[in-house]
Amino acid sequence: MACITVIILERPWPLGPIPAPKRLPKILTYTTRFDTELQPQARLINKTIAAIYASPKGWQQAGIRFVYTTSRPIFTIDFTTGIHIASLSHSCDDFYNCTVGNMIYINTDRWLYGDNWPGTFVNYHVLIINHETGHILGLDEWGCICALRPAPVMLYHQNTTGWHLWKPNPWPISYEIDVVQKDVK
Ligand SMILES: [Zn+2]
Repeated sequence: MACITVIILERPWPLGPIPAPKRLPKILTYTTRFDTELQPQARLINKTIAAIYASPKGWQQAGIRFVYTTSRPIFTIDFTTGIHIASLSHSCDDFYNCTVGNMIYINTDRWLYGDNWPGTFVNYHVLIINHETGHILGLDEWGCICALRPAPVMLYHQNTTGWHLWKPNPWPISYEIDVVQKDVK
């Protein structure tokens, strides 16, 4: 009789080298920048981001408070063109968003027009802010066997086309919260 071994991996795993533990402050200050195309929407987008950071479903569950500031922020969310993003680091291209050091670069086209992510457009914005912020918090891209379960927010290519059985999920899963919480001092 054929024997089928089913391995159930409950946890996602980092696709890159395991990042060194970080020392994350309890208050993370940030600011935003907008290219000319998005400048008229700056206030609205700032409100969206503040709501994502204040949500009880978000990274604040790890014991972090996100505070907007214009003076010496710890990290910056910069809405800019794909061409500019591609020029910043060999790890970035002109299609995706990219986080380099303490800079989150959001591709203006992706913000305006979305991608083939199977969730709603509103939640797509939640996903990309939470995903790139996960990099600021020291997380890498995850892999997972998460069929029929909410995907981790750091799941590689939650935003690509193709075969997927995971449920689209723009918020960090409890495992991701736990990993970050260990680094909050
Ligand atoms: Zn990423």
